[in-house]
Amino acid sequence: MLDTLAIRTQRTTASRIAERDATPLEFGKVFSDHMLVVDYRAGEWQEAQILPFGDLPVSPANSALHYGQAIFEGMKAYPTAGGGVALFRPLDNWARLNASAERMCMPPVPEELFMQGLKELVRLDAPWLPRVPGGALYIRPFMFATDGMLGVRPSESYRFAIITCPVDVYYTKPLRVRFEQQYVRSAEGGAGFAKNAGNYGAAMYPTRLAQQEGYHQLIWTDASEHQYVEESGTMNIVFVIDGKLITPALSTSILDGITRRSVLQLAREMGVAVEERRVSSREVIGALEAGTLQEAFGVGTAATIAPIATIGHEGRDYELPASAPEALSQRLGAALGAIRAGQAPDPHGWMVPV
Ligand code: PMP
Repeated sequence: MLDTLAIRTQRTTASRIAERDATPLEFGKVFSDHMLVVDYRAGEWQEAQILPFGDLPVSPANSALHYGQAIFEGMKAYPTAGGGVALFRPLDNWARLNASAERMCMPPVPEELFMQGLKELVRLDAPWLPRVPGGALYIRPFMFATDGMLGVRPSESYRFAIITCPVDVYYTKPLRVRFEQQYVRSAEGGAGFAKNAGNYGAAMYPTRLAQQEGYHQLIWTDASEHQYVEESGTMNIVFVIDGKLITPALSTSILDGITRRSVLQLAREMGVAVEERRVSSREVIGALEAGTLQEAFGVGTAATIAPIATIGHEGRDYELPASAPEALSQRLGAALGAIRAGQAPDPHGWMVPV
């Protein structure tokens, strides 16, 4: 698509890029020099602007603050061979942002505005992308209500913005997770498929309880019976049982992860049997006890693939086999990494140069 929008750009006069090299680079704490900001007013998107990163003034009656009319996305730009930068499946994030927007009564962001804004912003702050193994620019598009009005009804004005952060290798220790059987992240018919702010705020308390018990994350289960697996923390979850890749089928309570769909597609192309269906905690524990559960891992943009080492259930911890180099999780991670780095063919056109 041709760049047709005029985006007004005000460059910073005092780059903070030295902050990037502060070690360790903690996720989401250091932001690149610029941000994209666009307001929606009177039924229309106004002029897009790229501005120096900074605070955004809001009314204290802003309805995002009071009623949570706020959504976001999470995606990454990767360094490619030859010094370039490419986005991974950005149109998938755009489509998911608009699915979240619809669920939250917010206006859709036009494709052209999303893609051109994203590309211009990433091009401008490309020097921030750490060219180290695992380095990427994490990209956070988000939209929030801006009406200063306490009525409980959809806002009439909104702000869409994009900020970015440099990230380096996302090292996760093999995860300790446990089935959650009291609290819920989302329910069928709720908004779990959307990336709206409230889903994340409400997950913090049950997650903190699990962390106090020594787990990193929860395995969320269905809201009515607490029997069926949904996701793990802020990742989708995959099991390898008897050589088959098994993952919960999507529903209105599960976020349709872009890493998930990429991993499932790569696995199918490797000839692995993939099943998207209901998975119960009983099946998982049964497979652990029978020794047929070979792997379990989380999949998401931040870590790509996060192997699970321990699963807790009803007061007991079950240990998984250590992740070996020939493990499916490792092969899938390597395949995805090679496509992202431009070191392998990209037959699906997942990489979009900026
Ligand atoms: N589930 C939840 C609840 C998430 O927040 C995320 C992160 N966006 C994912 C799954 C993984 O999605 P993706 O692969 O698109 O990052």
